[in-house]
Amino acid sequence: MAEKVCRYCNKPLKLRESGYPMGSALLKADRVHVDIYECPDCHKIELFAAESDLVTCPKCGNLHSAKEACAICAMNKAFDEANN
Ligand SMILES: [Zn+2]
Ligand SMILES: [Zn+2]
Repeated sequence: MAEKVCRYCNKPLKLRESGYPMGSALLKADRVHVDIYECPDCHKIELFAAESDLVTCPKCGNLHSAKEACAICAMNKAFDEANN
């Protein structure tokens, strides 16, 4: 993977947050996970699509961050509990 550098200062960017969930909590299935990088010099923030820790849910095939439970399965479970 190419090193991420600040487009203004050409300094290597520092990883601030990896796999950060973007988007509305109400649209969990559509959330995008991003890696947040910051330039130590000018503090420009750059976002990159997270590529490191996505796992495929064995139950429903949804792609989600390894740090989080599967949102689809969590939603299905909530529906099941509401209907019983
Ligand atoms: Zn910079
Ligand atoms: Zn699932």
